[in-house]
Amino acid sequence: MANILAGTPVRDAILAELAERIRRLPRAPGLAVILAGDNPASAIYVRNKVKACAELGIVSEQRTPPASIETSELLAMVQEFNERPEIDGILVQMPLPPQVDSRRVLQAIAPEKDVDGFHPVNVGYLVAQVEGPRACTPAGIMRLLAHYGIAVAGRHAVVVGRSDIVGKPMALLLLHAHATVTICHSKTPDLAAVCRGADLLVAAMGRPAMLTRDYLKPGGVVIDVGMNRLDRREQVAGIFRGDPRKLEQFERHGSVLVGDVHPLDVAEVAGAYTPVPGGVGPLTIAMLMANTVRAAERRAC
Ligand code: NDP
Repeated sequence: MANILAGTPVRDAILAELAERIRRLPRAPGLAVILAGDNPASAIYVRNKVKACAELGIVSEQRTPPASIETSELLAMVQEFNERPEIDGILVQMPLPPQVDSRRVLQAIAPEKDVDGFHPVNVGYLVAQVEGPRACTPAGIMRLLAHYGIAVAGRHAVVVGRSDIVGKPMALLLLHAHATVTICHSKTPDLAAVCRGADLLVAAMGRPAMLTRDYLKPGGVVIDVGMNRLDRREQVAGIFRGDPRKLEQFERHGSVLVGDVHPLDVAEVAGAYTPVPGGVGPLTIAMLMANTVRAAERRAC
């Protein structure tokens, strides 16, 4: 039976360490959050981020402009936060409304206040291994691997997905930790064969339960970043092979979460894996808090 790599104890350890560091700062760190429009998933993410700030002692300030906001207005908002000394971090929740030039808005954030690690300057720091904010989800995964004492150096890591927020930074962090890294995407031929060669497999595609046992190396470590909401009963019944607990969960909530890796196959084939939910998910917000505290520390000295 595979070991479950739960994210919650790792998150708790990160937050406990941050609480101690916040106590040593001359003032509470400040995080500005911009949530434009009315995307319900974004609203939930932002609510959770703001709640995490409050619990940890980070002061957060939220702006919720309407979906009709223009690029120029968002740029002015970001500029205001760039200039305010008590704001250490700025987070612009993605996606932005379609008429907004998202790239321009992200690039307007002062790199030292970019707590998502998306600004090209910070991406450059990542590539060059210079200290700077790292993308939260991949950074959280590195903490999880360290927490559970999972060796990375010399192992073959396969990252499926090449997005700027997960796949690419993940591959670079693993490379810097001396893994031999293969990056896969939708045009990779014979994905199953590549994945089966992975001592460490990171799945970040957004494809519900796609990586079945054929994609898994027996005894390997599997990190499942995917967060897919199943909202059709037959999908839940099919993936979870009629598991009555999952069907009951579906009846109660109207949907069930599943990762990109098949939840039953991974438990049988892998040596260790992160569950969905409760694996990678809790770490992303913890690393956002970590980036905010680090930004405050750097600006305080
Ligand atoms: P994107 O949609 O930006 O990127 C998906 C990547 O997966 C692309 O590179 C795409 O390839 C690749 N891909 C898609 N389908 C296939 C396929 N059939 N075979 C191989 N590769 C494929 O997604 P994100 O990186 O933003 O997110 C990925 C997943 O992680 C989502 O489920 C998201 O919800 C979840 N997520 C979870 C977080 C957490 O905190 N747990 C945080 C962030 C994301 P190509 O480039 O060729 O199109």
